[in-house]
Amino acid sequence: ALSEEPVEEVRPAKRHTGDVAAVVQHYNSRPDVGVVQRMESPIIGLKAFNNWVKSVLITRFAHPALEKSSFTRSNGGQGFGRGKVLDMGCGKGGDISKWTKARVGEVLFCDIAAVSIEQAHGRWKSNRGHRFDASFAALDCYAEPLIKGFPPAKLSTPVDVVSMQFCMHYAFEKIQKVRCMLDNVSKYLRPGGVFIGTIPNAELLLEQLDHIPPDEEDKSFGNSVYKITFDNRSGNDRPIYGHKYSFFLEDAVENVPEYVVHWDNFVQLASEYGLVPIYKEEFHQVFQEHQEHPEFKPLLVKMKVVDAQGESAMDEDQWEAANIYIAFAFEKR
Ligand code: SAM
Repeated sequence: ALSEEPVEEVRPAKRHTGDVAAVVQHYNSRPDVGVVQRMESPIIGLKAFNNWVKSVLITRFAHPALEKSSFTRSNGGQGFGRGKVLDMGCGKGGDISKWTKARVGEVLFCDIAAVSIEQAHGRWKSNRGHRFDASFAALDCYAEPLIKGFPPAKLSTPVDVVSMQFCMHYAFEKIQKVRCMLDNVSKYLRPGGVFIGTIPNAELLLEQLDHIPPDEEDKSFGNSVYKITFDNRSGNDRPIYGHKYSFFLEDAVENVPEYVVHWDNFVQLASEYGLVPIYKEEFHQVFQEHQEHPEFKPLLVKMKVVDAQGESAMDEDQWEAANIYIAFAFEKR
């Protein structure tokens, strides 16, 4: 068994309607550009920063949970991988190198965008370094149970970490979707396991919306790299679910429908699934907290967030756009 090749599993895709179709269409049609073209993105600094924040979150909260795992996997003669991860809304597998670095045993990848899942699969196959077992499922994780996407044997041992990066807010169209999402998060997560993620900062979004005069037709704000446009509705007509806005981010997201995540409400709902919040910070705060850290400071340079002279790769507009997001962690009790 020591020389076993990492195993893989891929499941096919389905049709979608309404806002979901718009989201799927958008992510499926975004090309998987190579490293060289990625370096030429006009928001390369912001992308690097977002990646650094995810690395901080994974290192601080996922690594300890993985280290305590009783789940181990041999991997092609390189020794053992420890722990199991569910990467929900994984996209093209942007975090594969982070799971590699974490030396995990197994990762379950799922996303509603079938093309992205194929690309994630391709990335995993060509990934060098520590190898982990992987399964890939094209699945609407906010409308279908995980068991519809993964073979039962893959779900028979619990996961130590669930990661939802820049994707959870798409569930907040309806409470049923949020409940389905939370069920998928919690069901296979072991007690003591962690649920980490990144989502738009509702407080900041609504504060900006409040600054727009009530009689103003155009309910949008932003800068040269991002634009958020809310439906034109009055201040006291703000639903907890389905509070939609359209999001544009230069070279990343083209007017995709998204929904506000009201944090306190979310925390309350998550508690019904045994999930207790242990961390929540705006991205600017994550930077302040970790920029001098012995591990994360050099990582800022390595991930090209700052250059060797300490100069930021982000201009002011990118830095402002970075704070649209918050990072969070929950523990399963
Ligand atoms: N997590 C990846 C990352 O950090 O690079 C991808 C983030 S991308 C901004 C958002 C992802 O959420 C897209 O790949 C999209 O297809 C996925 N998504 C949106 N709705 C979903 C759903 N209902 N079920 C699963 N994935 C969904």
